[in-house]
Amino acid sequence: MPVLEATMTPKSAHEAALHNFDLAANELNLEPDVREMIKYPERILEVTLPVRMDDGHIHRFEGYRVQHSTARGPGKGGIRYHPNVTLDEVKALATWMTWKCAVVNIPFGGAKGGITCSPKDMSQIELERLTRRYAASILPLIGPDQDIPAPDVYTNSQTMAWIMDTYSMTKGYPIPGVVTGKPISLGGSLGRNEATGRGVFYTTLSALEFLKIPVKGAKVVVQGFGNAGSIAAQLLHEAGAVVIAVSDSKACIFNSKGFDIPKLMAYKDKTGQVLGFPSSEEIQPAELLALNCEILVPAALENSIDSNNAPSIRTKVVAEAANGPVTPDGDAVLESKGVFLIPDILCNAGGVTVSYFEWVQDTQHLFWDTQDVYKRLEHIMKVSFGDVLKIHRDHRVPMRTAANMLGIGRVAEAIKIRGLYP
Ligand code: GLU
Repeated sequence: MPVLEATMTPKSAHEAALHNFDLAANELNLEPDVREMIKYPERILEVTLPVRMDDGHIHRFEGYRVQHSTARGPGKGGIRYHPNVTLDEVKALATWMTWKCAVVNIPFGGAKGGITCSPKDMSQIELERLTRRYAASILPLIGPDQDIPAPDVYTNSQTMAWIMDTYSMTKGYPIPGVVTGKPISLGGSLGRNEATGRGVFYTTLSALEFLKIPVKGAKVVVQGFGNAGSIAAQLLHEAGAVVIAVSDSKACIFNSKGFDIPKLMAYKDKTGQVLGFPSSEEIQPAELLALNCEILVPAALENSIDSNNAPSIRTKVVAEAANGPVTPDGDAVLESKGVFLIPDILCNAGGVTVSYFEWVQDTQHLFWDTQDVYKRLEHIMKVSFGDVLKIHRDHRVPMRTAANMLGIGRVAEAIKIRGLYP
């Protein structure tokens, strides 16, 4: 029974995704048949990837590609390289992609891929062999009209170039539209690299405007100074906010006066870490989350805010640059404290939105300038924020449920109109 399911404590990322699905589906009064059709992944592929390592031995990696939904269009979603990748996690991430694409109303379904590996301990050539073997193994599933991968945690435009090349060599002609987040020289879009962080910035500005908090002087804490977190920090810094603390996978640093973000980005680029940045003080992860601030940006991995650390959080806004950073238990605590949440499937949807622009440009063989990309992205992010906010206020539901209601409602509509095959 959906209502009972929604009251259970989810134990994994996929269970959390299902839990939040039930909350929104209940609010939408979604018919049981429709729930059954859209809740679970359509297709799951698990692949074994033997790769010759630089020392000559063959290492076996495990990889996945999950297509959660193709109801509204081809599957869309990134590929993650991380030691903690599991099928459960990829299923959750694929599910969130479905609702995310629907929230920003772009014509894609949801998918995700991942390989359990430690990319930081691998050479470039090992990563290339792994990527090409993975691309060959998931080849039957992907394609510009089928399922279009993109970068995610610890993958980048180079990874996409290898996938594009492997796919194209197999088919016999260049097919840039098979992936997005490509290098510009291969048909990538201007503005794609910074799109996730820029989308976080636009939705955060919308939230501040709604809450009547001036961005000038607003204190910001960023957990995870990677692609999304650092760009969001940079844009907020440029807008006059004060970024007082950031973290990466190795350490958390603090400066009550705020960091010079371009300098911190250059430092991280050069040294591979934020630790040791001039005039910064190292603090513990629990202290970082408990800092008094206006905006907290969790931009790392899933489940970083839960019922254990949420009680200490002292922010007005949580902008989820990461996917699934707050557990359902954590949500309940933040909600009771009156924290305004910009949920992941809205907040970080800038990445997939510019992926969509890239796919459109590849299809048309006609490329846009950066300002055009930014303008279109800003429009989509602001309209989507307004759509979610309206549901939040009209139905008196948390922002996460509101975003899920918008996304799930659109997918349900598509499924109903398509009907059931056969
Ligand atoms: N990995 C990003 C996300 O989680 C982007 C996906 C895409 O562009 O397809 O939204």
